Amino acid sequence: MINVTKTFLPPIDDYVSTLKRAWDKAWITNNGELALELEEKLKSYLGVRNLLFCGNGTIVLQMALKAFDITGEVITTPFSYVATTTAILWENCKPVFVDINKSNFCIDPSKIEAAITTKTQAILATHVYGYPCDVTEIERIARKHQLKVIYDGAHAFGTKINGRSLLDYGDISTCSFHATKLFHTVEGGCILTPDDELLKKLFLYKHFGHIGDEYFSIGINGKNSEFHAAMGICNLNYIGDILAKRKKSWTNYANALRNASYEILNIPETIEYNYAYFPFVFESEKELLSKMNVFQRKGIKPRRYFYPSLNRLPYFLGEPCPNSESIAQRVVCLPLFHDITELEQDTIVSVLLEG
Ligand SMILES: *Cc1c(COP(=O)(O)O)cnc(C)c1O
Repeated sequence: MINVTKTFLPPIDDYVSTLKRAWDKAWITNNGELALELEEKLKSYLGVRNLLFCGNGTIVLQMALKAFDITGEVITTPFSYVATTTAILWENCKPVFVDINKSNFCIDPSKIEAAITTKTQAILATHVYGYPCDVTEIERIARKHQLKVIYDGAHAFGTKINGRSLLDYGDISTCSFHATKLFHTVEGGCILTPDDELLKKLFLYKHFGHIGDEYFSIGINGKNSEFHAAMGICNLNYIGDILAKRKKSWTNYANALRNASYEILNIPETIEYNYAYFPFVFESEKELLSKMNVFQRKGIKPRRYFYPSLNRLPYFLGEPCPNSESIAQRVVCLPLFHDITELEQDTIVSVLLEG
């Protein structure tokens, strides 16, 4: 079977010897040495000032909204994983959907201003498939209207704009280190901000709002464990190799499909892309479903990602977003992972191209 993704695992001896450091001290959570080491290594790898290693990529979205006391409307994208929207709803805020660009699947900044009301407090946008939102334009609009910018960077690990990590943009950025993501800690995530004061607030939130016997604010359990940190420390040693292999496989798909005049995501020179996903957009949902049947018979599992468009969730109906709805009905992510073979990719491409 070829799945849409396959989790990278380090040699088990690496993992055991790293974990043993926590094991020997019988200190397995609460900012143990491995969690702290991972934070330092991630900061240096990403070139960012502040980063907190947290439980997952969803709790960090909730912490971000809470840190800015967001209680009103949040402008957001309908084309993302459901966690982006449910984090807003969970915090009792109102998602206001702004449609996406068909060219890069990210929120269309030219449509943001029309959606701003007196209740708007923040923009929560996703760097879809690891490809950057128009960060310059979003920043400009946010400053003009005094809105906070939060990026759901769950896919953004490893992407850079002009040499700067994509996770370094926005008032707050978040990332997911879930096992399906390109860099993972089994379960996990992080939250980043350039603002030191804000970091202190987020640090407290992550630890139930207290340090020792001193209680400062409300908080939640946003921590992660030494078992998870150990996986991150091991995997980070292989990140260069993982990114290089993905680039090669991504390029294989792109070359094979471009020859068949399929339109490939265009990556300008200023962007160092992480090749996190390879989206394929069919002409129609009917064609998608019929190809999914063929794939299934061959034991290949691309994923309808993202589907449905989040403005059409059964428990929260948002404003119509024609581009997002149309793409969500027709897109699949093709299998892409560190050790996918060219033969496997050829099989997948031939299913896509055969009449
Ligand atoms: C995976 C993902 C999340 C959630 O991350 P978890 O670590 O699974 O909680 C949020 N947003 C996007 C865009 C994602 O892809």
